[in-house]
Amino acid sequence: MDKQKELRRQQALEYHAQGRPGKIEVVPTKEAKTQRDLSLAYSPGVAEPCKEIFNHKEDVYKYTAKGNLVAVISNGTAVLGLGDIGPEASKPVMEGKGVLFKIYADIDVFDIEINEKDPEKFVQIVKALEPTFGGINLEDIKAPECFYIEKALREQLNIPIMHDDQHGTAIISGAALLNALEIQQKKIEEVRLVINGAGAAAMACAQIYVALGAKYENFIMFDKDGVLHQGRTDLDAIKQKFAVKSSDWTLATAMKDADVMVGLSVGNVVTPAMIQSMAPKPVVFAMANPEPEITYEEATAARKDIIMATGRSDYPNMVNNVLGFPYIFRGALDVRSRQINEAMKLAAVKALADLAKTPVPDIVNLAYNQKNISFGPEYIIPKPVDPRLLATVAPAVAKAAMESGVAQEAITDWEAYKVVLNK
Ligand code: NAP
Ligand code: MG
Repeated sequence: MDKQKELRRQQALEYHAQGRPGKIEVVPTKEAKTQRDLSLAYSPGVAEPCKEIFNHKEDVYKYTAKGNLVAVISNGTAVLGLGDIGPEASKPVMEGKGVLFKIYADIDVFDIEINEKDPEKFVQIVKALEPTFGGINLEDIKAPECFYIEKALREQLNIPIMHDDQHGTAIISGAALLNALEIQQKKIEEVRLVINGAGAAAMACAQIYVALGAKYENFIMFDKDGVLHQGRTDLDAIKQKFAVKSSDWTLATAMKDADVMVGLSVGNVVTPAMIQSMAPKPVVFAMANPEPEITYEEATAARKDIIMATGRSDYPNMVNNVLGFPYIFRGALDVRSRQINEAMKLAAVKALADLAKTPVPDIVNLAYNQKNISFGPEYIIPKPVDPRLLATVAPAVAKAAMESGVAQEAITDWEAYKVVLNK
């Protein structure tokens, strides 16, 4: 086992170091071979688009790459499960995110690692980058600073911005929850939910579940200090809404008769006995990485009637943000949305949930070496390799932006738009 780990470590290091180090490069989109080309691309020709943009700022979208360029921005304070490893050490993750944006949605990315932990200064730095980008994906910034940073930037910037660790997770798990409850024949308005973890991902998930119909009074949430209860003085306004009266709850007592358990905390804190104590037909999303709150094997062995998801690719029902961010930004950029708002997030949830209910193309079965992947307890959300994601989620998000009044451009021919996306 250790030998295998060491082999994988070596392979990962070689992968990143071989050839030109890192995972991305910049590629020109125009011919620049001849003297004429060069005089257009650079001086003197380049002065013309400069003057146009000076006279009409919106023309920056017409003459530069801004409209298809997303910044993946981190300060390296909450990287994967590695914690505060600093901006340089976060760069491989941010480059990787750039790769995913490109291959799944043809969005170009500059990854930007900022040496600043002070939230107010961080906001000022990101704000000053607005002219360059069509959108901003905040990444791996620790809680609670991430809440303030995203809120401040959303208020101050006129381009779409999303902290993916919060909202990406919420959107994907929201879609998974809707479908899991449908299969278990439960109503989201009625289910009792236990959430272990009250950090960046958990708080966004809890809030989107409320937007989908769950009731505040049906939640019991936990953080490192135990249950979120009304006697605590350390809870912000959002956490207070989820706080219960009694301070007596433990994870074990809360899970008894609960319908849904969502883990966004740390590995191996849920036992088979806790799973067995849940209500009939339970839904368990154990999403701590790399070790889930309880393993897929243990949870499914404890209960035959369970629907189980994790963040891992080696089991069914992987809740992975890559199902969301490329397509959400694609839709937002294509109507030049000023934000990524609640309506757009909910549209993405709905589009993902619905897509899982339609027959999968052969290519998806092939990729997983299976014959008939179909909607059911072991397939509640689309697979990341599903080629239909782009032309399903991006239009849904774009439409929601238009309908909620944040789009600055309109798409009118949706069929033509889908054809362009599928090229
Ligand atoms: P975070 O902001 O650091 O939040 C972690 C939360 O877990 C905090 O509220 C923390 O409590 C709580 N916690 C830690 N140990 C606990 C314990 N023993 N019992 C109860 N609560 C405990 O991190 P995050 O970004 O939200 O991520 C949380 C976990 O979810 C990580 O493992 C991450 O990899 C995983 N995740 C998975 C996905 C996915 O699968 N798609 C997406 C996002 C995140 P305090 O607030 O008291 O510190
Ligand atoms: Mg992340």
